[in-house]
Amino acid sequence: MAEKKQIAIVGGGIAGLTTAYYLQKQIRAYRLDYEVKLFEASSHLGGKIETLKKDGFMIERGPDSFLARKESASRLIYDIGMEKDLVRNNTGQSYILAGKKLHKMPKRAFMGVPTELKPFYQSRLLSTKAKARISVEPMLPKGKEAQDQSMGLFFRRRFGDELVENVLEPLLSGVYAGDIDELSLMATYPKFYEVEQQYGSVIKGLQATMPKPPKQKKGVKPPGAFLSLKNGLESLVEGLEAKLDPGTVQLETSVDHIERKADHYHLLLGNGEVFRADAAVLASPFFAVQRMLSQYDFMEQLKEMKATSVATVAMTFDASAIKKDIDGTGFVISRNSKYRITACTWTHKKWEDTTPEGKVMLRCYVGRPDDSGVVDLSDEEIVQIALKDLNKIMKIKSKPLFSVVSRWKKAMPQYVVGHLKRVADVRANMAIHLPGVFLAGGSYDGIGIPDCIDSGEQAVQNVLAYLRE
Ligand code: FAD
Repeated sequence: MAEKKQIAIVGGGIAGLTTAYYLQKQIRAYRLDYEVKLFEASSHLGGKIETLKKDGFMIERGPDSFLARKESASRLIYDIGMEKDLVRNNTGQSYILAGKKLHKMPKRAFMGVPTELKPFYQSRLLSTKAKARISVEPMLPKGKEAQDQSMGLFFRRRFGDELVENVLEPLLSGVYAGDIDELSLMATYPKFYEVEQQYGSVIKGLQATMPKPPKQKKGVKPPGAFLSLKNGLESLVEGLEAKLDPGTVQLETSVDHIERKADHYHLLLGNGEVFRADAAVLASPFFAVQRMLSQYDFMEQLKEMKATSVATVAMTFDASAIKKDIDGTGFVISRNSKYRITACTWTHKKWEDTTPEGKVMLRCYVGRPDDSGVVDLSDEEIVQIALKDLNKIMKIKSKPLFSVVSRWKKAMPQYVVGHLKRVADVRANMAIHLPGVFLAGGSYDGIGIPDCIDSGEQAVQNVLAYLRE
């Protein structure tokens, strides 16, 4: 009997796990003669997804939720039978901290970009000059730029600098912990470019294409835009692991190098062994992939990519410790304000099941491209920075009951201008020089959890098509 074809998956984050799960589903359904092996360098699965439970609190050390409108994550959760665990965030006022003041996020905005001007005219977030500047957006000619451009360049041209720095930067580039003047518009939010080109104006384009918000009954809050799981996002990792065939996962085993042989590949493992694979999905970060395939010049392009480091700090308190509570779910910080935290979520309000009655959990972010050193400070120093910043707007009278600092070094891949072309070029070269080896995960096609799941699903299609050939 012919030996089963071996499919190797490198990396056990959400992208690698999704790939393994859907591959084995297809293998079972169509009785394919393939076997899947997933190699994970660390001692646990999940990659950036990590949930900690302590003293009745549930703390997400990395991501805390995913966007509900991107359907692949919910689809996967239904597929593994965990849909009953899905929870939606509580909605509430969100703010932008500019100077020493929390400003309500202007209504009728999409990621901070106006779809109507009136709420922005009413906000004190912008100067009179900036309000006049955004009002001309519908009249401006559309951009001639046919190639990629930075988000900063695009939005500064359409709306002026102040809207970009006070509102858009913390929202749009905050997701990537990146610099708005370097991040690629086409690799992050191409929709803005498309509506500008089609409607001649971003505001007009958003008005024409955004679904109208459903009519809200008085006193009823609109549904939240994010989903998570009642036992934390790590329960998705556990749920997926439980669905894999026994023996699929090999922990504490890095893939250090990959060599192409006549009709297969050799994966050189950190433990000195060699794994023979007929196809492979590389679902580890771009810099690990570049090292595995460093003999290929075209992989140098991945070396040019950058990743920023961030840390999250979750702090828990008795509710009585907060003397000046704020009605809302959190805030981001405008680029020109002198704070070192970049955002804060009132987790006990946004995700109330994470926090016991009578307690409060605040979760802040630190780490920006121009402040990456903050991540290397001690836990105590990071907590002090967060408390000092928070105390400028809230009166926190006691020390936290406990705090949890989570460092994520080189964790946020930067999709800088030219990203799509670079990735397409690497993939085109791989198709020629490394047939049957595919890329998946947050380094390439979107960093959100649903994007990583999409990339895993795509990798499954690619591997199956390749092995069928
Ligand atoms: P990873 O999770 O990085 O997994 C890659 C795995 O590969 C790791 O386990 C690593 O150990 C392993 N590996 C590396 N090298 C090797 C090797 N040589 N051999 C074998 N294994 C190797 N997204 C959202 O949608 N919502 C959020 O709220 C959100 N918040 C975030 C907050 C933080 C602090 C961070 C850091 C990210 C956040 N993201 C969020 C982004 C999202 O979490 C990530 O993009 C996503 O989890 C990445 O998944 P992945 O599988 O591509 O990679």
